[in-house]
Amino acid sequence: MSKFTEKYIASFMSELEAKNPGEKEFHQAVREVLESVAPCLEAYPHLLDNKIMERIVEPERVIIFRVPWMDDEGEIHINRGFRVQMNSAIGPYKGGIRFHASVNLSIMKFLAFEQTFKNALTTLPMGGAKGGSDFSPRGRSDAEVMRFCQSFMTELQRHIGPDTDVPAGDIGVGGREIGYMFGQYKRLRDEWTGTLTGKGQNWGGSLLRPEATGYGACYFAQAMLATRGETFEGKTVVISGAGNVAQYAAQKAMRLGAKVVTMSDSDGYIYDADGFTEEKIDYIMWLKNAKRGRIREYAQKYPQTQYFAGERPWGVKCDIAMPCATQNEIDADDARKLVEGGCFCVTEGANMPTTPEAIAIFQSHKLLYSPGKASNAGGVATSGLEMTQNSIRQKWTAEEVDRYLHRIMSDIHDACIKYGTEEDGYINYVKGANVAGFLKVAGAMVDQGLV
Ligand code: NDP
Repeated sequence: MSKFTEKYIASFMSELEAKNPGEKEFHQAVREVLESVAPCLEAYPHLLDNKIMERIVEPERVIIFRVPWMDDEGEIHINRGFRVQMNSAIGPYKGGIRFHASVNLSIMKFLAFEQTFKNALTTLPMGGAKGGSDFSPRGRSDAEVMRFCQSFMTELQRHIGPDTDVPAGDIGVGGREIGYMFGQYKRLRDEWTGTLTGKGQNWGGSLLRPEATGYGACYFAQAMLATRGETFEGKTVVISGAGNVAQYAAQKAMRLGAKVVTMSDSDGYIYDADGFTEEKIDYIMWLKNAKRGRIREYAQKYPQTQYFAGERPWGVKCDIAMPCATQNEIDADDARKLVEGGCFCVTEGANMPTTPEAIAIFQSHKLLYSPGKASNAGGVATSGLEMTQNSIRQKWTAEEVDRYLHRIMSDIHDACIKYGTEEDGYINYVKGANVAGFLKVAGAMVDQGLV
């Protein structure tokens, strides 16, 4: 790194931290991108002159609003709603909605910032956004979740639309929540458009959207493995999370010949040394999506399984790790355990699940390591395909959508190779994804003038 780049990063970050105090996840996400792209800024001085980096970290708009709702006992609750509309240079704002007690402005901004580059990588015309609330659907009845979603959408509908901003799901927001929000949006706006994605199959949803993030992560991992002449066949895979992304990552990895041995939730993880089967994955989907139960119940159903309360699965020996739960779930100790256990490929299904210290360990050991903004982009890409199908009032077959998904993941992989291959041949996927996404968004911003 040149002296200029080092100085630029230090002064940029100190200003950003002073201007956005306490937003540690946002600082972390910006620093990671900045470290990758700062050398480009030296090579393309017009990006510096246009203050692209200063503009790209400032959301175009942040909406924070009150979400009042009543529980089944008649008690009133007040939650906080967010929508961060980060960047619309290459298309309408697009990004998920997260309902989780931990949601705050820092988490919303880091996710919207990451989303901007991820969406650019998909090759589709989508800007970056993220939204959500500190409401947790866990333990709430369907009626309570519906009242909350309706109250949330009553305010959000003013700020979104098919050509303005198209939200989707994320942690705590699946088909049920999208349904309630879509119903309320349609009622208030008196229009039927593809304003939310992740919709049900009978009312505008795209085939393969539920599967897309997990499947896409596996397609990306396949491309990474192929650079070393490897495949999923016979490999042991450790997965965290038990939600949408984890379920379909596990299903696809297993169908590609791997033995998947773990899943987790925020209470602990299960270790099934025999590996999951189709039947076991179907059970997990029923347990998590229909019964809304906890992952420990798997160990009651399949007694040969071990359950580790309060722990994460990274100490389990594996070839491939797929973190699919939440941000910062692999720290330096976890990374060391994975490397010592023989893991040689880490593919992120979640957003920013690996801390900077852990990334440094993976890269210094020359692991195949892909950041979420590259390997989990299949979800938003298929949301983009859902928007296209809604606009042309058609529904494509699963095979057609899968073909697009394959092509998009392979294009993202090519972009990472183009911008991330280092002198010794090691592919730095973090650098590749950041530079490719940044150059596309930055170019569009320059073309569109000072807005
Ligand atoms: P879900 O709500 O379906 O599942 C989330 C899973 O992660 C649950 O098992 C949950 O456990 C676990 N989890 C959540 N928070 C924590 C925590 N703090 N510690 C440990 N475990 C936790 O969400 P998704 O599967 O949709 O999302 C998972 C990740 O993938 C997120 O980072 C999301 O941003 C990212 N992502 C999702 C996309 C999508 O299409 N859905 C697209 C791209 C990225 P519990 O039930 O105990 O909360």
